[in-house]
Amino acid sequence: MNYKAYMLHNYKTLPQIANLSEDLIEAIDVVGSVLPFKTNNYVVENLIDWSRVPNDPIFTLTFPRKEMLRSHHYEKIKEAVKSGASKSEIKIAADEIRQKLNPHPAGQLDHNVPRMDGEKVFGMQHKYRETVLFFPGQGQTCHAYCTFCFRWPQFVGMDELKFASRQAEHLTEYISNNDSVTDVLFTGGDPLIMKTKILEAYIRPLLEPGVKNLKHIRIGTKALAYWPFRFITDNDADDLLKLFSDVKKAGKHLAFMAHFNHPAELKHPAVKEATERILETGSVIRTQSPVLKHINDSPQVWAEMLEKQVELGCIPYYMFIARNTGADHYFSLPLVDVWKLFRETYQAVSGICRTVRGPSMSCLPGKMQILGVNEIGDEKVFTLRFIQGRHPDWVAKSFFAKFDDKAIWYTDLKPAFGDEKFFFTDELDKILKPGEVEIDFE
Ligand SMILES: *Cc1c(COP(=O)(O)O)cnc(C)c1O
Ligand code: SF4
Repeated sequence: MNYKAYMLHNYKTLPQIANLSEDLIEAIDVVGSVLPFKTNNYVVENLIDWSRVPNDPIFTLTFPRKEMLRSHHYEKIKEAVKSGASKSEIKIAADEIRQKLNPHPAGQLDHNVPRMDGEKVFGMQHKYRETVLFFPGQGQTCHAYCTFCFRWPQFVGMDELKFASRQAEHLTEYISNNDSVTDVLFTGGDPLIMKTKILEAYIRPLLEPGVKNLKHIRIGTKALAYWPFRFITDNDADDLLKLFSDVKKAGKHLAFMAHFNHPAELKHPAVKEATERILETGSVIRTQSPVLKHINDSPQVWAEMLEKQVELGCIPYYMFIARNTGADHYFSLPLVDVWKLFRETYQAVSGICRTVRGPSMSCLPGKMQILGVNEIGDEKVFTLRFIQGRHPDWVAKSFFAKFDDKAIWYTDLKPAFGDEKFFFTDELDKILKPGEVEIDFE
Protein backbone atom coordinates (compact mmCIF):
# COMPACT_ATOMS: atom_id res chain seq x y z
CA MET A 1 0.00 0.00 0.00
CA ASN A 2 1.24 3.52 -0.81
CA TYR A 3 1.05 6.03 1.99
CA LYS A 4 -1.10 9.10 1.45
CA ALA A 5 -1.63 11.73 4.12
CA TYR A 6 -4.80 13.79 4.50
CA MET A 7 -4.80 17.14 6.26
CA LEU A 8 -6.91 20.25 6.39
CA HIS A 9 -6.06 21.26 2.83
CA ASN A 10 -6.93 17.97 1.08
CA TYR A 11 -9.20 15.83 3.28
CA LYS A 12 -12.28 16.88 1.31
CA THR A 13 -10.99 14.81 -1.61
CA LEU A 14 -11.78 11.66 0.42
CA PRO A 15 -14.97 10.04 -0.92
CA GLN A 16 -16.06 9.25 2.67
CA ILE A 17 -16.29 12.96 3.46
CA ALA A 18 -19.10 13.50 0.95
CA ASN A 19 -21.43 11.65 3.32
CA LEU A 20 -20.62 13.74 6.40
CA SER A 21 -23.02 16.39 7.61
CA GLU A 22 -22.15 20.05 7.20
CA ASP A 23 -21.74 20.35 10.97
CA LEU A 24 -19.10 17.63 11.07
CA ILE A 25 -17.21 19.18 8.19
CA GLU A 26 -17.37 22.61 9.81
CA ALA A 27 -15.97 21.09 13.02
CA ILE A 28 -13.02 19.57 11.17
CA ASP A 29 -12.23 22.93 9.56
CA VAL A 30 -12.63 24.90 12.79
CA VAL A 31 -10.98 22.60 15.33
CA GLY A 32 -8.38 21.57 12.75
CA SER A 33 -7.28 25.22 12.58
CA VAL A 34 -6.25 25.11 16.24
CA LEU A 35 -5.24 21.51 16.98
CA PRO A 36 -3.18 19.43 14.56
CA PHE A 37 -5.02 17.25 12.05
CA LYS A 38 -3.56 14.53 9.90
CA THR A 39 -4.82 11.11 8.92
CA ASN A 40 -3.95 8.69 6.12
CA ASN A 41 -5.43 6.30 3.58
CA TYR A 42 -4.90 3.16 5.73
CA VAL A 43 -6.65 4.69 8.74
CA VAL A 44 -9.51 6.04 6.64
CA GLU A 45 -10.07 2.90 4.57
CA ASN A 46 -9.40 0.19 7.14
CA LEU A 47 -9.68 1.41 10.72
CA ILE A 48 -12.65 3.76 10.68
CA ASP A 49 -16.08 2.18 10.46
CA TRP A 50 -17.82 4.94 8.53
CA SER A 51 -21.27 3.55 9.31
CA ARG A 52 -20.60 4.51 12.96
CA VAL A 53 -19.24 8.00 12.30
CA PRO A 54 -19.16 10.41 14.15
CA ASN A 55 -19.04 8.09 17.17
CA ASP A 56 -16.59 5.63 15.68
CA PRO A 57 -13.59 5.55 18.05
CA ILE A 58 -10.94 5.77 15.32
CA PHE A 59 -12.75 8.66 13.64
CA THR A 60 -12.67 10.44 17.00
CA LEU A 61 -9.02 9.46 17.39
CA THR A 62 -7.84 11.16 14.19
CA PHE A 63 -10.56 13.60 13.09
CA PRO A 64 -11.26 16.86 14.94
CA ARG A 65 -14.68 16.97 16.64
CA LYS A 66 -16.56 20.07 17.70
CA GLU A 67 -16.43 19.33 21.42
CA MET A 68 -12.62 19.18 21.38
CA LEU A 69 -12.62 22.97 21.69
CA ARG A 70 -14.50 24.79 24.41
CA SER A 71 -17.56 26.45 22.89
CA HIS A 72 -16.35 30.07 23.15
CA HIS A 73 -13.08 29.10 21.49
CA TYR A 74 -14.97 27.20 18.82
CA GLU A 75 -17.23 30.17 18.06
CA LYS A 76 -14.29 32.52 17.78
CA ILE A 77 -12.46 30.40 15.20
CA LYS A 78 -15.69 29.55 13.39
CA GLU A 79 -16.33 33.25 12.90
CA ALA A 80 -12.84 33.76 11.50
CA VAL A 81 -13.06 30.76 9.17
CA LYS A 82 -16.58 31.64 7.95
CA SER A 83 -15.78 35.30 7.35
CA GLY A 84 -12.98 34.28 5.03
CA ALA A 85 -10.21 35.63 7.25
CA SER A 86 -6.70 35.22 5.89
CA LYS A 87 -4.46 32.36 6.99
CA SER A 88 -2.38 34.67 9.15
CA GLU A 89 -5.48 36.15 10.83
CA ILE A 90 -6.75 32.67 11.65
CA LYS A 91 -3.31 31.76 12.96
CA ILE A 92 -3.26 34.73 15.34
CA ALA A 93 -6.68 33.77 16.73
CA ALA A 94 -5.63 30.10 16.94
CA ASP A 95 -2.35 30.90 18.72
CA GLU A 96 -4.22 32.87 21.35
CA ILE A 97 -6.38 29.82 22.10
CA ARG A 98 -3.44 27.42 21.95
CA GLN A 99 -1.72 29.39 24.72
CA LYS A 100 -4.73 28.65 26.92
CA LEU A 101 -4.55 24.89 26.38
CA ASN A 102 -1.60 24.29 28.71
CA PRO A 103 0.85 23.66 25.88
CA HIS A 104 3.78 22.68 28.10
CA PRO A 105 2.62 20.16 30.68
CA ALA A 106 4.97 18.51 33.18
CA GLY A 107 7.79 20.99 32.61
CA GLN A 108 9.04 19.16 29.54
CA LEU A 109 10.80 22.05 27.89
CA ASP A 110 12.38 23.58 30.95
CA HIS A 111 13.18 20.90 33.41
CA ASN A 112 14.40 17.80 31.65
CA VAL A 113 17.07 19.06 29.28
CA PRO A 114 20.41 17.46 30.21
CA ARG A 115 23.78 19.19 30.13
CA MET A 116 27.19 18.17 28.88
CA ASP A 117 30.17 20.26 30.03
CA GLY A 118 27.67 22.83 31.27
CA GLU A 119 25.97 23.16 27.86
CA LYS A 120 22.35 22.14 27.30
CA VAL A 121 22.04 19.08 25.07
CA PHE A 122 19.06 19.76 22.81
CA GLY A 123 16.93 16.96 21.42
CA MET A 124 17.20 14.99 24.66
CA GLN A 125 15.38 14.80 27.97
CA HIS A 126 16.71 13.13 31.06
CA LYS A 127 14.13 12.98 33.80
CA TYR A 128 14.55 9.51 35.29
CA ARG A 129 17.99 8.20 36.17
CA GLU A 130 18.09 5.11 33.95
CA THR A 131 16.42 6.45 30.83
CA VAL A 132 17.29 9.16 28.35
CA LEU A 133 14.59 10.30 25.94
CA PHE A 134 15.92 11.12 22.52
CA PHE A 135 14.04 13.19 19.92
CA PRO A 136 15.66 12.62 16.51
CA GLY A 137 15.22 15.79 14.43
CA GLN A 138 13.69 13.96 11.47
CA GLY A 139 11.26 11.92 13.58
CA GLN A 140 9.10 14.71 14.93
CA THR A 141 5.95 13.96 12.96
CA CYS A 142 3.62 10.93 12.75
CA HIS A 143 1.76 8.82 10.18
CA ALA A 144 -1.44 10.38 11.56
CA TYR A 145 -2.11 12.64 14.54
CA CYS A 146 -4.05 11.55 17.60
CA THR A 147 -6.58 14.13 18.70
CA PHE A 148 -5.57 13.65 22.37
CA CYS A 149 -1.81 13.95 21.76
CA PHE A 150 0.14 15.81 24.43
CA ARG A 151 2.84 16.67 21.89
CA TRP A 152 0.33 18.67 19.83
CA PRO A 153 2.20 22.01 20.23
CA GLN A 154 5.14 20.73 18.19
CA PHE A 155 2.82 19.72 15.33
CA VAL A 156 1.27 23.19 15.03
CA GLY A 157 4.66 24.91 15.01
CA MET A 158 4.36 26.33 18.53
CA ASP A 159 7.34 24.53 19.95
CA GLU A 160 10.42 25.28 18.00
CA LEU A 161 12.16 22.13 19.15
CA LYS A 162 15.87 22.71 19.12
CA PHE A 163 18.19 20.05 17.84
CA ALA A 164 21.94 19.85 17.98
CA SER A 165 23.54 19.61 14.55
CA ARG A 166 25.63 16.57 15.44
CA GLN A 167 22.80 14.88 17.31
CA ALA A 168 23.92 11.28 16.90
CA GLU A 169 27.39 12.04 18.28
CA HIS A 170 25.94 13.95 21.23
CA LEU A 171 23.62 11.11 22.09
CA THR A 172 26.37 8.52 22.07
CA GLU A 173 28.69 10.78 24.03
CA TYR A 174 26.08 11.67 26.63
CA ILE A 175 25.18 8.03 27.26
CA SER A 176 28.83 6.91 27.40
CA ASN A 177 29.53 9.64 29.98
CA ASN A 178 26.59 8.73 32.21
CA ASP A 179 27.06 5.28 33.68
CA SER A 180 23.65 5.18 35.32
CA VAL A 181 21.91 5.38 31.92
CA THR A 182 20.86 1.90 30.81
CA ASP A 183 18.03 2.88 28.47
CA VAL A 184 17.52 5.20 25.57
CA LEU A 185 14.00 5.81 24.36
CA PHE A 186 13.67 7.13 20.81
CA THR A 187 10.55 9.22 20.69
CA GLY A 188 8.83 11.97 18.75
CA GLY A 189 6.43 12.29 16.99
CA ASP A 190 7.11 8.83 15.74
CA PRO A 191 10.75 7.89 15.08
CA LEU A 192 9.61 5.23 12.61
CA ILE A 193 8.46 7.95 10.26
CA MET A 194 12.18 8.22 9.47
CA LYS A 195 13.83 6.36 6.64
CA THR A 196 15.88 3.39 7.85
CA LYS A 197 19.11 5.10 6.74
CA ILE A 198 18.49 8.01 9.07
CA LEU A 199 17.39 5.91 12.03
CA GLU A 200 20.42 3.73 11.50
CA ALA A 201 22.76 6.70 11.79
CA TYR A 202 21.44 7.23 15.32
CA ILE A 203 21.27 3.61 16.43
CA ARG A 204 24.44 2.00 15.02
CA PRO A 205 26.89 4.15 17.02
CA LEU A 206 25.10 2.97 20.19
CA LEU A 207 25.99 -0.64 19.34
CA GLU A 208 29.73 0.05 19.52
CA PRO A 209 31.60 -1.78 22.31
CA GLY A 210 32.40 1.54 24.04
CA VAL A 211 28.77 2.16 25.05
CA LYS A 212 28.78 -0.59 27.66
CA ASN A 213 26.28 0.87 30.12
CA LEU A 214 23.51 1.03 27.51
CA LYS A 215 21.45 -2.15 27.73
CA HIS A 216 18.03 -1.32 26.32
CA ILE A 217 17.09 0.58 23.20
CA ARG A 218 13.44 1.49 23.08
CA ILE A 219 11.48 2.96 20.20
CA GLY A 220 8.17 4.65 20.99
CA THR A 221 5.94 4.25 17.95
CA LYS A 222 2.41 4.26 16.67
CA ALA A 223 3.41 2.83 13.27
CA LEU A 224 1.87 -0.59 14.04
CA ALA A 225 -1.49 1.09 14.45
CA TYR A 226 -1.31 3.83 11.82
CA TRP A 227 1.03 2.36 9.19
CA PRO A 228 1.95 -1.33 9.67
CA PHE A 229 3.31 -1.37 6.11
CA ARG A 230 6.36 0.40 7.55
CA PHE A 231 7.52 -3.10 8.48
CA ILE A 232 6.23 -4.95 5.42
CA THR A 233 6.08 -3.17 2.07
CA ASP A 234 7.77 0.24 2.52
CA ASN A 235 10.81 0.18 0.26
CA ASP A 236 13.26 0.12 3.19
CA ALA A 237 11.21 -2.23 5.41
CA ASP A 238 13.67 -5.11 5.06
CA ASP A 239 16.60 -2.87 5.97
CA LEU A 240 14.65 -1.72 9.01
CA LEU A 241 14.17 -5.30 10.20
CA LYS A 242 17.84 -6.03 9.55
CA LEU A 243 18.70 -3.07 11.79
CA PHE A 244 16.49 -4.51 14.55
CA SER A 245 18.26 -7.90 14.23
CA ASP A 246 21.64 -6.20 14.43
CA VAL A 247 20.70 -4.49 17.68
CA LYS A 248 19.94 -7.89 19.13
CA LYS A 249 23.18 -9.35 17.72
CA ALA A 250 25.14 -6.55 19.37
CA GLY A 251 23.79 -7.79 22.71
CA LYS A 252 21.30 -4.99 23.33
CA HIS A 253 17.64 -5.45 24.09
CA LEU A 254 15.34 -3.76 21.57
CA ALA A 255 11.86 -2.88 22.78
CA PHE A 256 9.03 -1.25 20.89
CA MET A 257 6.80 0.89 23.04
CA ALA A 258 3.80 0.52 20.76
CA HIS A 259 0.85 2.87 21.12
CA PHE A 260 -2.55 1.30 20.61
CA ASN A 261 -5.66 3.07 21.84
CA HIS A 262 -8.40 0.72 20.70
CA PRO A 263 -8.80 -2.95 19.66
CA ALA A 264 -9.93 -1.79 16.19
CA GLU A 265 -6.29 -0.90 15.55
CA LEU A 266 -5.21 -4.51 16.09
CA LYS A 267 -7.53 -6.34 13.71
CA HIS A 268 -6.11 -5.77 10.24
CA PRO A 269 -4.01 -8.71 8.93
CA ALA A 270 -1.14 -6.29 8.25
CA VAL A 271 -0.75 -5.72 12.00
CA LYS A 272 -0.29 -9.43 12.58
CA GLU A 273 2.21 -9.68 9.78
CA ALA A 274 4.14 -6.64 11.01
CA THR A 275 4.30 -7.85 14.62
CA GLU A 276 5.48 -11.27 13.46
CA ARG A 277 8.26 -9.70 11.42
CA ILE A 278 9.36 -7.54 14.36
CA LEU A 279 9.27 -10.39 16.87
CA GLU A 280 11.34 -12.57 14.54
CA THR A 281 14.21 -10.09 14.96
CA GLY A 282 14.34 -10.92 18.68
CA SER A 283 12.76 -7.63 19.71
CA VAL A 284 9.96 -7.22 22.20
CA ILE A 285 6.79 -5.19 21.72
CA ARG A 286 5.32 -3.51 24.79
CA THR A 287 2.07 -1.60 24.56
CA GLN A 288 0.64 1.51 26.15
CA SER A 289 -2.32 3.88 25.99
CA PRO A 290 -4.10 6.48 28.04
CA VAL A 291 -7.71 5.98 29.07
CA LEU A 292 -9.72 8.28 26.79
CA LYS A 293 -13.35 9.25 27.13
CA HIS A 294 -15.20 8.75 23.79
CA ILE A 295 -12.53 6.29 22.59
CA ASN A 296 -11.71 3.53 25.06
CA ASP A 297 -13.38 4.36 28.40
CA SER A 298 -14.79 0.91 29.03
CA PRO A 299 -13.25 -2.11 30.73
CA GLN A 300 -14.63 -4.37 27.97
CA VAL A 301 -12.78 -2.37 25.32
CA TRP A 302 -9.60 -2.45 27.38
CA ALA A 303 -9.87 -6.16 28.11
CA GLU A 304 -10.40 -6.91 24.43
CA MET A 305 -7.44 -4.71 23.53
CA LEU A 306 -5.07 -6.36 26.03
CA GLU A 307 -6.13 -9.86 25.04
CA LYS A 308 -5.65 -9.10 21.37
CA GLN A 309 -2.22 -7.63 22.09
CA VAL A 310 -1.13 -10.75 23.96
CA GLU A 311 -2.50 -12.93 21.16
CA LEU A 312 -0.21 -11.02 18.78
CA GLY A 313 2.78 -11.59 21.07
CA CYS A 314 2.89 -8.10 22.63
CA ILE A 315 3.31 -7.36 26.35
CA PRO A 316 0.90 -4.84 27.93
CA TYR A 317 2.97 -2.16 29.71
CA TYR A 318 1.25 1.09 30.71
CA MET A 319 -2.30 2.35 31.23
CA PHE A 320 -1.98 6.12 31.43
CA ILE A 321 -4.25 8.88 32.63
CA ALA A 322 -4.88 11.42 29.83
CA ARG A 323 -2.56 14.41 30.23
CA ASN A 324 -3.78 17.86 31.18
CA THR A 325 -3.21 19.59 27.87
CA GLY A 326 -4.90 20.33 24.53
CA ALA A 327 -8.38 18.84 24.29
CA ASP A 328 -8.13 17.22 27.73
CA HIS A 329 -11.59 18.46 28.81
CA TYR A 330 -12.99 16.18 26.09
CA PHE A 331 -10.92 13.09 26.91
CA SER A 332 -10.38 13.19 30.68
CA LEU A 333 -12.22 11.14 33.28
CA PRO A 334 -12.11 11.65 37.05
CA LEU A 335 -9.20 9.75 38.62
CA VAL A 336 -11.60 7.61 40.59
CA ASP A 337 -13.32 6.47 37.38
CA VAL A 338 -10.02 5.62 35.71
CA TRP A 339 -9.02 3.61 38.75
CA LYS A 340 -12.35 1.72 38.64
CA LEU A 341 -11.83 1.04 34.96
CA PHE A 342 -8.34 -0.30 35.69
CA ARG A 343 -9.72 -2.67 38.33
CA GLU A 344 -12.55 -3.92 36.16
CA THR A 345 -10.16 -4.45 33.28
CA TYR A 346 -7.70 -6.31 35.50
CA GLN A 347 -10.48 -8.51 36.81
CA ALA A 348 -11.68 -9.33 33.30
CA VAL A 349 -8.37 -10.68 32.00
CA SER A 350 -5.95 -13.41 33.00
CA GLY A 351 -2.64 -12.83 34.72
CA ILE A 352 -0.86 -12.88 31.38
CA CYS A 353 -2.51 -9.54 30.49
CA ARG A 354 -1.95 -8.03 33.94
CA THR A 355 1.55 -6.89 33.07
CA VAL A 356 -0.18 -3.57 32.34
CA ARG A 357 0.74 -1.03 35.03
CA GLY A 358 -1.38 1.90 36.03
CA PRO A 359 -3.40 3.89 35.98
CA SER A 360 -0.45 6.24 35.88
CA MET A 361 -0.06 10.02 35.51
CA SER A 362 3.12 11.28 33.85
CA CYS A 363 3.45 14.53 35.74
CA LEU A 364 6.04 16.94 37.08
CA PRO A 365 7.21 14.84 40.06
CA GLY A 366 7.17 11.50 38.23
CA LYS A 367 4.88 8.70 37.15
CA MET A 368 2.16 8.49 39.79
CA GLN A 369 0.07 5.36 40.01
CA ILE A 370 -3.34 5.27 41.67
CA LEU A 371 -3.31 2.15 43.78
CA GLY A 372 -6.75 2.52 45.23
CA VAL A 373 -9.34 4.27 47.32
CA ASN A 374 -9.16 3.52 51.04
CA GLU A 375 -10.67 4.57 54.35
CA ILE A 376 -8.03 5.17 56.95
CA GLY A 377 -9.36 6.15 60.34
CA ASP A 378 -12.35 8.22 59.34
CA GLU A 379 -10.78 9.73 56.25
CA LYS A 380 -11.37 8.57 52.68
CA VAL A 381 -8.13 8.73 50.67
CA PHE A 382 -6.49 7.88 47.42
CA THR A 383 -3.48 5.64 47.88
CA LEU A 384 -0.83 6.52 45.32
CA ARG A 385 2.63 5.32 44.46
CA PHE A 386 5.54 6.51 42.33
CA ILE A 387 6.37 4.16 39.45
CA GLN A 388 9.01 6.68 38.40
CA GLY A 389 10.32 9.63 40.38
CA ARG A 390 12.22 12.74 39.47
CA HIS A 391 14.27 11.74 42.50
CA PRO A 392 15.22 8.06 42.26
CA ASP A 393 14.55 7.61 45.96
CA TRP A 394 10.81 8.24 45.50
CA VAL A 395 10.33 5.16 43.30
CA ALA A 396 7.91 2.63 44.79
CA LYS A 397 7.06 4.92 47.72
CA SER A 398 3.37 5.09 48.46
CA PHE A 399 1.52 8.12 49.83
CA PHE A 400 -1.98 9.40 50.45
CA ALA A 401 -4.14 12.17 49.04
CA LYS A 402 -7.56 13.33 50.17
CA PHE A 403 -10.25 11.54 48.20
CA ASP A 404 -11.88 13.80 45.64
CA ASP A 405 -14.37 12.38 43.17
CA LYS A 406 -13.85 15.33 40.81
CA ALA A 407 -10.06 15.29 40.68
CA ILE A 408 -8.80 14.59 37.17
CA TRP A 409 -5.07 15.33 37.55
CA TYR A 410 -2.50 15.28 40.35
CA THR A 411 -2.65 19.06 40.63
CA ASP A 412 -6.22 18.63 41.91
CA LEU A 413 -5.01 16.45 44.80
CA LYS A 414 -4.39 17.61 48.37
CA PRO A 415 -2.40 15.73 51.00
CA ALA A 416 -4.50 13.57 53.34
CA PHE A 417 -4.73 13.71 57.15
CA GLY A 418 -4.43 17.48 57.29
CA ASP A 419 -0.80 17.45 56.12
CA GLU A 420 0.35 20.63 54.43
CA LYS A 421 2.60 18.98 51.88
CA PHE A 422 3.25 15.69 50.19
CA PHE A 423 6.43 13.90 51.25
CA PHE A 424 8.12 14.95 47.99
CA THR A 425 7.05 18.61 47.83
CA ASP A 426 10.14 20.24 49.35
CA GLU A 427 12.58 18.08 47.48
CA LEU A 428 10.73 18.70 44.20
CA ASP A 429 10.86 22.48 44.74
CA LYS A 430 14.58 22.22 45.34
CA ILE A 431 15.17 20.17 42.21
CA LEU A 432 13.12 22.55 40.06
CA LYS A 433 14.56 25.84 41.35
CA PRO A 434 15.80 27.82 38.37
CA GLY A 435 19.54 27.92 38.01
CA GLU A 436 20.04 25.13 40.47
CA VAL A 437 21.83 22.09 39.11
CA GLU A 438 19.41 19.26 38.47
CA ILE A 439 19.91 16.00 40.30
CA ASP A 440 23.32 14.52 39.87
CA PHE A 441 22.31 10.97 39.04
CA GLU A 442 25.81 9.55 39.37
C1 LIG B 1 7.74 7.08 31.06
C2 LIG B 1 8.98 7.80 30.89
C3 LIG B 1 10.20 7.10 30.82
C4 LIG B 1 10.28 5.59 30.87
O1 LIG B 1 9.87 5.09 32.13
P1 LIG B 1 9.77 3.52 32.38
O2 LIG B 1 8.97 3.38 33.62
O3 LIG B 1 11.16 3.03 32.51
O4 LIG B 1 9.10 2.94 31.19
C5 LIG B 1 11.35 7.85 30.69
N1 LIG B 1 11.34 9.20 30.64
C6 LIG B 1 10.19 9.90 30.73
C7 LIG B 1 10.24 11.40 30.71
C8 LIG B 1 8.97 9.23 30.85
O5 LIG B 1 7.83 9.92 30.93
S1 SF4 C 1 1.32 8.89 17.36
FE1 SF4 C 1 2.00 9.55 19.43
S2 SF4 C 1 3.15 11.45 19.09
FE2 SF4 C 1 1.99 11.02 17.21
S3 SF4 C 1 0.08 12.13 17.45
FE3 SF4 C 1 -0.32 10.10 18.25
S4 SF4 C 1 0.12 10.25 20.46
FE4 SF4 C 1 1.04 12.04 19.46
